[in-house]
Amino acid sequence: MKAWRSVWLQRLAHSLVAHHDARGVLLFVMGAWPMLAVLWLMQTVALLGLAGTQHFHRPWLLGVHGALSALMAWLLGVAWWAWTRRWRTPAQPGLVRWTVWPGVLGVTALGLTYGLTDTPMALVLMAQIVLARSVFKWAQLRPAIVAAFVLVAVVGLDRLGPGQDLSPMLRAPVFSGEPMAPWWLWWTRITFAVAIGPHTAMMFFYAGVFARRQRALETLVSADGLTGLLNRRAFLERFEREAHRQARSGRPLTLLMFDIDRFKLVNDRHGHPAGDTVLAEFGRILRDHTRERVDTAARYGGEEFLLLLPETDLAGGERVAAKVCDHLRQHTFQVDAAAFHVTASVGVAQVVEGHAEAALRLADNNLYDAKRAGRDRVVGGVATPEPVRPGTDRAGLFQ
Ligand code: GH3
Ligand code: MG
Ligand code: MG
Repeated sequence: MKAWRSVWLQRLAHSLVAHHDARGVLLFVMGAWPMLAVLWLMQTVALLGLAGTQHFHRPWLLGVHGALSALMAWLLGVAWWAWTRRWRTPAQPGLVRWTVWPGVLGVTALGLTYGLTDTPMALVLMAQIVLARSVFKWAQLRPAIVAAFVLVAVVGLDRLGPGQDLSPMLRAPVFSGEPMAPWWLWWTRITFAVAIGPHTAMMFFYAGVFARRQRALETLVSADGLTGLLNRRAFLERFEREAHRQARSGRPLTLLMFDIDRFKLVNDRHGHPAGDTVLAEFGRILRDHTRERVDTAARYGGEEFLLLLPETDLAGGERVAAKVCDHLRQHTFQVDAAAFHVTASVGVAQVVEGHAEAALRLADNNLYDAKRAGRDRVVGGVATPEPVRPGTDRAGLFQ
């Protein structure tokens, strides 16, 4: 049940965010119609003389009721039209126009006949506009909203004079200063409820959609696209945090820098896509052989990878490096018809007193030494705060 609901909500969110016009029309009608139907029912009660009849000018009520019935029938018609086109292209401007104009102007006119400022109809209108804005683009809505605004302004100016604040359809103000007539008491309560309920549900829904999108974006900006590991920027942020923690707690922290040996040859012999496969698989090997949620693996760039091991000293770091190198050495890469092996060299540096930059420099220097010593090996050391070899300084990494 839960899975079904979440799939449904995700589809709904996708339709809304992607602005698919026909689905937008369907959603608009689904949101607007119940609100209008409740108002229609209350008008029917008054027209049939069951309750509240005395509060209305009957000819006006008849006219408004007819117009509201026509608007609701129209909206059902466009909903049907949209249903038949729900799998077509996202952009269906004609369909949106035929929905937005009657939808927005119809509800504005309905609001004005009740009195926008004297009844909760302003809230109904606002709910409709927010609903329309959440399913359609602003450019699609703008002309109808401007027209609605002009209509409200013109009618508002017309009614500015004393004693003119009453809506044309009503015999007396809803809020007259006297205790409210029972009809208006219920009418305002029900109208508030039908406007506020969907409005609130929409706000909740959108807050959820935005939170999910925010999380997805955060993942996207901190991940490396090829391997799914953290990217360089995200890794360096985490490294700085962990280094601070190391300085405070005094517990060991070790950094490993991997570089695949003669990777250029892999590209040259087997092609760039094969090289990409090696990188992605190496990323998986790193993930598989480290502690989930404790260690951090990242792609530093090209065929260089970083591994950060909290609660691990130099000896432990060297053991992990050797283990990963063993697995890599034994792993057969199979790309198309070719099968081949690759190795990696590793520079290891234990962080001292939170000096992250010094550790990064030492890991880099040790990696260089491992390459010079013949590759496929691990060289480690404890990072002192001073640069180990100023000539190979990687200044600016933390900027
Ligand atoms: P060494 O043993 O000294 O590390 O030699 P190497 O060939 O691994 O090192 P070098 O720095 O000369 O070459 C790295 C190569 O990695 C060159 C570059 O084309 C390749 N490379 C960098 N990023 C990618 C990538 O995303 N995909 C692929 N397929 N190749 C990449
Ligand atoms: Mg390299
Ligand atoms: Mg290399």
